Amino acid sequence: MFNNLEISLIDLHTHTTASDGTFSPRELVKMAKDEGLEALAITDHDTTAGNAEAADAGREYDFEVVPGVEISADAPFGSQHIVGLYLNSDAEKMESALRELRDFRDKRNQKMIVLLEELGIPVTMAELQIEAGGDLVGRPHFAALLLKRGYVNTYQEAFEKYLKAGGKAYLDKKRLPADEAIQMIHDGGGISIIAHPYILRRKDEENFEKNIEYLVERGIQGIEVYYPEHSRGDEALFADLARRYDLLISGGTDFHGSIKPGVRLGRGYGTMDIPYECLDAIKEARS
Ligand code: AMP
Ligand code: ZN
Ligand code: FE
Ligand code: FE
Repeated sequence: MFNNLEISLIDLHTHTTASDGTFSPRELVKMAKDEGLEALAITDHDTTAGNAEAADAGREYDFEVVPGVEISADAPFGSQHIVGLYLNSDAEKMESALRELRDFRDKRNQKMIVLLEELGIPVTMAELQIEAGGDLVGRPHFAALLLKRGYVNTYQEAFEKYLKAGGKAYLDKKRLPADEAIQMIHDGGGISIIAHPYILRRKDEENFEKNIEYLVERGIQGIEVYYPEHSRGDEALFADLARRYDLLISGGTDFHGSIKPGVRLGRGYGTMDIPYECLDAIKEARS
């Protein structure tokens, strides 16, 4: 065995080729099983397209899979990702809203291709789609392609020069207002969770709690206490926040495969151990 049997490993935030992860849903479920995890949630950006394949793989490998999503939302204080767990497979209203985000993304990608071309960097949609190996093309695939073609020396340089907010080929994407994203998750039978709160705190420490309150007032149900970038101190801070605002505790590695090197499924940078009890409480809240 890889792991100490007393520690249950679960991972409630991961990406597949349905968005910008590098493993297919089936591969990810198999990896979770092989690495000794006990449960895995698939939370692709603005799409639920990977959930069906993951559920099939879960049945095949006798492994617990949680259908989810990570929605790019917009709040008065800036962008905030919101994870939804346990979505119904027939959450049609959500699918149509997410489709709108994806249509916007397609147009954004086309425009970014034009911007790059004007900078003397010709890339095509077909090449980006090969890079993505799945449905959704995003900035990580632009970065990977620019690196492969030698226009930059590192993946990070592609972001610094061209792709980060304010970069020469950057265009913003469309986000759903946070209250709509939360409501949509609830309408789809899901549990709504504040993703990676350390980012929100780092952006504006002074108003951090006020911003959490904004989401709480709009019905958010949980918060990611466990995340690779969270120190033990962060975990304690966010756990205290969860207690005070009566929020469910969640967490995950935000595994993306080779796009986020060094992060292991269920383990993050090696020190994560998300108690299975978190998932029990989330399941309890559904009923
Ligand atoms: P997109 O949804 O197309 O805007 O791409 C967002 C993804 O790009 C994020 O999930 C990150 O994986 C990646 N990303 C965004 N900003 C940076 C950055 N400054 N450096 C490296 N990766 C980034
Ligand atoms: Zn991503
Ligand atoms: Fe995120
Ligand atoms: Fe994520």
